[in-house]
Amino acid sequence: MSALHQHDPEIAACIARELERQEDGLELIASENFVSPAVMEAAGSVLTNKYAEGLPGKRYYGGCVHVDDAENLARSRARALFGCDWVNVQPHSGASANLAIYLAFLKPGDTLLGLNLSHGGHLTHGSPVNFSGLLYKAEFYGVEADGPLEGRIDMDKVRDQARAVKPKLISIGASAYSRDFDYAAFRAIADEVGAFLWMDMAHTAGLIATKLLNDPMPHCHVVSTTTHKTLRGTRGGMLLLGKDYENPFGKTAPKSGRLKMMSELLDSAVFPGVQGGPLMHIIAAKAVAFGEALRPEFSTYCKSVIANASAMAAAFSSLGYRIVSGGTDNHLMLLDLSSRNITGKAAEEALSRAHITVNKNMVPFDRNSPLVTSGIRLGTPAMTSRGFTQEDFRRVVGMMDRVLCVPTDETVAAQVKGEVLALCRERPLYRS
Ligand SMILES: *Cc1c(COP(=O)(O)O)cnc(C)c1O
Repeated sequence: MSALHQHDPEIAACIARELERQEDGLELIASENFVSPAVMEAAGSVLTNKYAEGLPGKRYYGGCVHVDDAENLARSRARALFGCDWVNVQPHSGASANLAIYLAFLKPGDTLLGLNLSHGGHLTHGSPVNFSGLLYKAEFYGVEADGPLEGRIDMDKVRDQARAVKPKLISIGASAYSRDFDYAAFRAIADEVGAFLWMDMAHTAGLIATKLLNDPMPHCHVVSTTTHKTLRGTRGGMLLLGKDYENPFGKTAPKSGRLKMMSELLDSAVFPGVQGGPLMHIIAAKAVAFGEALRPEFSTYCKSVIANASAMAAAFSSLGYRIVSGGTDNHLMLLDLSSRNITGKAAEEALSRAHITVNKNMVPFDRNSPLVTSGIRLGTPAMTSRGFTQEDFRRVVGMMDRVLCVPTDETVAAQVKGEVLALCRERPLYRS
């Protein structure tokens, strides 16, 4: 980075300080991860100079032959990774991918049924402050407050809610839900009410690609994802069509005709519907990450992500903490601090003094506001990329507990910070 250092020392210094923060801290934000130097190299390449509106072979600009090759590689690797017949790798982010789905399949005012934001859902699934709640009629299902399905979705209630509100689109997918989804049950409900079924696997894409979680592809009409969470690629989004293109609008075209219809709808929703030129450097970086995810090491990594999350949840439980739903099937968990005399906000702040980064998060039926909250969300993808084992995560839980027991104690925070720094130096991230 010597060019940047000489050309713009102020920004170079920001980046250097951020690198140091990443090296010297425990990153437990469930939506974050660390990309490889190869992914960063592609993202920082000359492909940023190229305009390429359109799709490979059908561009509105000349000079696209090499970026066409890069986008075709991204597409074929993504199809291989998820076993699907069509993808669009151009969405700039998860939210842009989702916007394209609404544009393709709904009209403003149509009804959507999604997971309640305060029960783990995402803003783009109907929140009143997001386009999805502003332009469409958003209805919600949630998780159970108690009983055998505590913290989990009761599919009978989803069915009742779908019958009552008759949605045109049902969304699955979450930002803070630690259990797997029953896609076949969702599909039966969607078929019954004539809705279109969409899975947003932004968080779990890596775990789905490696078959460690249920596969939405055979059951959902459309799937969206980010590429930067468990998939461990550059920041970005993507759309995929599963193995079932039967559309809920009563069309009876042959299978190949349905694929064409659905893919054309989605392609034109991405461009020119919601985006202009695709970010070709980012698409190349996505291709690099998909290539990495196709290797056996990525499967091993994803298995460790889940094993580490289970170990972490078990360690918190044995110290008397409440985990929403009692544990986790995936890479994340929600720690409910409401019985422990500390808010999510205070926990986030106290842990950050010890160089442990988490985010405050609403727990289902939270009595605190979204800016305060009663919980924190924890995830293992980033530190597992750094080589942390189950034993490391158990140590981390012990360190977090010491801080959370006396959140305003500066001495304890300083001691734990010292241990965090030692642990980080044992497992360097980009420094060698
Ligand atoms: C992270 C996330 C998104 C949004 O991704 P961005 O790239 O931040 O726009 C969408 N849906 C779900 C479920 C997510 O977790």
